[in-house]
Amino acid sequence: MNIKKLSDDVASRIAAGEVVERPASVVKELVENSIDAGAQDIAVEIRQGGRRLIRVIDDGSGIPGDEVELAFERYATSKLRAIEELSDISTLGFRGEALPSIAAVSHLTVLTRAKGEQVGTLLRLEGGRMAHHEAQGSAQGTVVTVENLFYNTPARLKFMRSVQTEARHISESVTCCAMAYPGLRFSLLSDGRTVFQSKGSGNLRDVLIEVYGLDIAQQMLEIQDGAASESAVAVHGFVSDPSLHRSDTRNVTTLVNHRFVRDRLIGKAIREAYHGLLPKGRHPIAVLKLELPSQDVDVNVHPAKSEVRFRDTGVVYSAVQRAVRQTLSVMAPVPGDSASFGWAHVVEARQRRLVEAGTRPGMRVGDLALEVQRTAEPLTSTAEPSGRDKLPMLRVLGQLGRTYVIAEGPTGMYLIDQHAAHERVLYEHFHAERARASVASQTLVEPITIEPGPRHAGLNEERLTKLRELGFDIEPFGGDTYLLRGVPTILQTADVGRSILDIVDEVERADGVRPWEEEIIIGLACHGATRAGETLTTDQMQELIVQLEQTSLPRTCPHGRPTMLHVSAEQLEREFGRR
Ligand code: ADP
Ligand code: MG
Repeated sequence: MNIKKLSDDVASRIAAGEVVERPASVVKELVENSIDAGAQDIAVEIRQGGRRLIRVIDDGSGIPGDEVELAFERYATSKLRAIEELSDISTLGFRGEALPSIAAVSHLTVLTRAKGEQVGTLLRLEGGRMAHHEAQGSAQGTVVTVENLFYNTPARLKFMRSVQTEARHISESVTCCAMAYPGLRFSLLSDGRTVFQSKGSGNLRDVLIEVYGLDIAQQMLEIQDGAASESAVAVHGFVSDPSLHRSDTRNVTTLVNHRFVRDRLIGKAIREAYHGLLPKGRHPIAVLKLELPSQDVDVNVHPAKSEVRFRDTGVVYSAVQRAVRQTLSVMAPVPGDSASFGWAHVVEARQRRLVEAGTRPGMRVGDLALEVQRTAEPLTSTAEPSGRDKLPMLRVLGQLGRTYVIAEGPTGMYLIDQHAAHERVLYEHFHAERARASVASQTLVEPITIEPGPRHAGLNEERLTKLRELGFDIEPFGGDTYLLRGVPTILQTADVGRSILDIVDEVERADGVRPWEEEIIIGLACHGATRAGETLTTDQMQELIVQLEQTSLPRTCPHGRPTMLHVSAEQLEREFGRR
């Protein structure tokens, strides 16, 4: 074939493909235009996942009658004049490509009336060609209707997914914008049904309630970024408590200067912040809003504008990582203030128990001190001394299947995995001891020889030293064998030798993400903890819960698995049809 220039018609349809990947891209571009136009109220309507129809109605500034046709020419924009302005973009759009791109691959109608004009304009385009233009009365603002998307680009049409999938992408687009702009009202009508609506209260948590429901929204932790004022990057938003996670990253929304972006670096920083808190392959729910000077971020990377480049990636990475990590380690969940059980009796029972605790035999001194300290404070959930005390007070009701503790809290029922919970307790206890350089160690009645075998060639001199620091009394005993005279006290098992070999085995099989000692500590906590299948007395269970309350991350075990399931009072009421 010889070289020929593509006709304008073909060229524009190809170019349109970069902006309009699927129906959701149309929604995103049109809604962004509405936001740029200063709209307060943005209503989106779709039919059949946007294949049949997409309509965006706004009450923004409108397009002046003599500019409407121009708006559909490629690179026509009211948002950018000179190349220098590109480094200081404050609008979502700036390339002047969206309207012509969408129009090139659909039947598009726009009805708009600009502020200060008496009459509006109706314009109809078919495959990008002007088909109709007339003056028409209308409200101030703009209505863009896109029908038969991709009717003239069969290749794209073939790649469209099911109606449900396209509708889901559109819904994600709209909810993203609502989270980016909590002060604006958004709604989405899909095949005649309202599937999303935000009130425009200006409060991001209100939007989260609309997006994820009340239960999840209440479990989201608001980002506390202590160092934000010193950093060029401010991080706001919400992240999920580690007990709340999902199988994919779809619920991680990152907004840079109000713009939804996909960014691997930010994704990695979030993952890093959750390190050790989530089970493998699970992801948090998060809405992260980054704000930084517009000169420090290049938004002109791709026509779809969903990628950005940062001038200083290191600053962004550490700001995100720090903000999320800090939030996870100090935050308490939102106290459920709506539906709550009559809580006074639980507090009373606890107080009685605390008084009795002083005389209870077999109680260790440390625990006593802790209990006394707790009685000194008013025992109401609102007066919790610090944000670290993340669990509400729980009252043990019983044990289920010799594996789970059933407990009642101010906002519902808790099922606690006794093994996972005890693991968390031992793990933090051990770290605390280690920080005070006072790891408790117990001498074995009879020393044990262990033969790790060829697979554990990793037990070298350096690691032996580390083991000793962790409270092991271990020394080489010739050849491949070692003599074990003492172990850290938390390893209370019947067969200590067996447990040690199992731990070494597990550490060997670990993915190497955590440091070696950390894996050993996790192993100790795991093997030292109460097993599933052990019968616990009510006292033992209550003891466990009190200790769990004291940990900084009571809702996950050191492996990142959940320690508890919470069934809220609302959930119960719903399930039983009480409301
Ligand atoms: P860009 O948003 O990059 O400027 P678009 O092709 O999306 O390019 O839109 C072209 C122009 O049309 C915009 O610059 C704006 O002036 C005008 N426009 C588009 N949509 C609206 C709207 N909903 N309300 C007011 N003006 C609009
Ligand atoms: Mg635009």
